[in-house]
Amino acid sequence: MPRSAIVTDPVFLKHEPGPYHPEHPQRIQTLLDLAGEVAAGGDRFELLPLRAAVQAELELCHGSDYIDLVRSTSEHNRFALDGDTITCRDSFGVALMAVGGFLQLLDAVAAADYGNGFTMARPPGHHALRNRGMGFCLFNTVAIGARYLQEKHGARRVAIMDWDVHHGNGSQDAFYDDPSVLFLSTHQYPYYPGTGAADEAGNGRGEGYTVNVPLPAGCGDAEYLAVFRDIIVPAIERYEPDWLLVSAGFDSHRDDPLGAMGVTERGFGVMANALLELARRHTGGKIAFLLEGGYDLAALRNSVATVLECMQSEEAASFDGSGERIATRIREVLRIRERYW
Ligand SMILES: [Zn+2]
Repeated sequence: MPRSAIVTDPVFLKHEPGPYHPEHPQRIQTLLDLAGEVAAGGDRFELLPLRAAVQAELELCHGSDYIDLVRSTSEHNRFALDGDTITCRDSFGVALMAVGGFLQLLDAVAAADYGNGFTMARPPGHHALRNRGMGFCLFNTVAIGARYLQEKHGARRVAIMDWDVHHGNGSQDAFYDDPSVLFLSTHQYPYYPGTGAADEAGNGRGEGYTVNVPLPAGCGDAEYLAVFRDIIVPAIERYEPDWLLVSAGFDSHRDDPLGAMGVTERGFGVMANALLELARRHTGGKIAFLLEGGYDLAALRNSVATVLECMQSEEAASFDGSGERIATRIREVLRIRERYW
């Protein structure tokens, strides 16, 4: 079995959104410790060096005026891109490393140097719109990654699965009218940022290539696994992507202070196994995980550790969830999907 790559770095500690902010540097310290342990514990994982993203890479998904605005935040001790998206003097530089670190990972997996990989960076990215930072996010790393795969590695069909508890509005927006990227999201709804209703399914040529599964608060492993079995896995199967990217937010964990979901480490493991299995079948194994949210340190560490274990196994996903509680919602999403299947 090929090794797995991990990209993380102490540089991600330097983005300081303020003392009481939930998206705090300790999140990365926890994962630096974990990554160091797994890399030292054998030859299954290797830590890759990272690089900064360049302007042209940011421009794959962002306007140059917006990039200039974020760059200018490095002249201020504190700058608010929105009410909860706060920067310090280092934030722009750190955000360049977060994007570059993911692109570096994609290059390594594309070159088949590694079977798969996980970038653990901050700030997160999936809320960032083309010309607007929001929800702790400056640049949309996963969206830039998908475009980069198309531009640099000839990918034709990229699927992005987003299991963060919040809807990935920025990622959806980036590809809403584009059939070359399938965006799928499970999220608490209604909740921040307000988007992600079931009938948001894409526009124009992109109609049918956005899959939203809005879920009521309180859903746990049983509901998430039913959604994966009935909606997510079949949608990705039919799409036949040549690359699979995962916006892996762990704020859907039952201990998370921001989300109100009940997913456990085991649930994340089954979801990861399902996606890894899809990657083995459709993409030659090519799959990359990217950290988004996740604000309880122990839950974050244990969940990421579980996903890393899955990346080095070939265990089949066992969907033992009944999903009875959300049967109506699953039927509603499937009715929408039937228009496109
Ligand atoms: Zn989130």
